[in-house]
Amino acid sequence: MIDHGALNDAKAILFDLDDTLYDAASFEEQADQAVAAVFARLGEIEVVEALAHAANVRAEGWSGYLDRWAEAINLGRESIAEALDVRRSMSPRLELRSGAAELLSELKETGRAIAIVTNGDRRQQENKVDALGLVARWGVHVEYAADSEPKPSPRAVDLALEALGIANYQALFIGDSPSDEAAARAAHVRFVWAEELFGPLRSDPLSP
Ligand SMILES: [Mg+2]
Repeated sequence: MIDHGALNDAKAILFDLDDTLYDAASFEEQADQAVAAVFARLGEIEVVEALAHAANVRAEGWSGYLDRWAEAINLGRESIAEALDVRRSMSPRLELRSGAAELLSELKETGRAIAIVTNGDRRQQENKVDALGLVARWGVHVEYAADSEPKPSPRAVDLALEALGIANYQALFIGDSPSDEAAARAAHVRFVWAEELFGPLRSDPLSP
């Protein structure tokens, strides 16, 4: 059940996208599958083998992961460009996290302005927004920080509120990462953690 207390007096609600409104792991799994097909073709190996390399390099962390993945299959720089293009142009199948659709509908029905403020490649983020039906179903404004300055800069938060015509002090930002919190704070916008509002993103099978 969502506690709407913090939202009650806000005229605009801004959301981060990845891991705030949906589980970004679902996108990454599909992106890995698509990139694995490309790397398998270029490296003349099986797709399952390419995916096994992905799991290995991911275990070492996210930073430079595509580069390390390509390197593990002895692929050159041009293969990384192709992989990035595949990630950015794919149309993923995504679902909003539990409670998000209900909240968006309630916000819309009660006349609140809604925006997404998201970092990341413009085309890739647009495909996610389309897959989640955010513009089509709720008419949200989407502020792509790639067009201005990525969070933690407050620039995209300011631009979103300008587009909505709502003053910063009347807004609330919901996000999952320190850069969301920092962007909101720098823009003088109240911040709420997505987990506080929606509960945990994934149910932990090990918890009682
Ligand atoms: Mg996020």
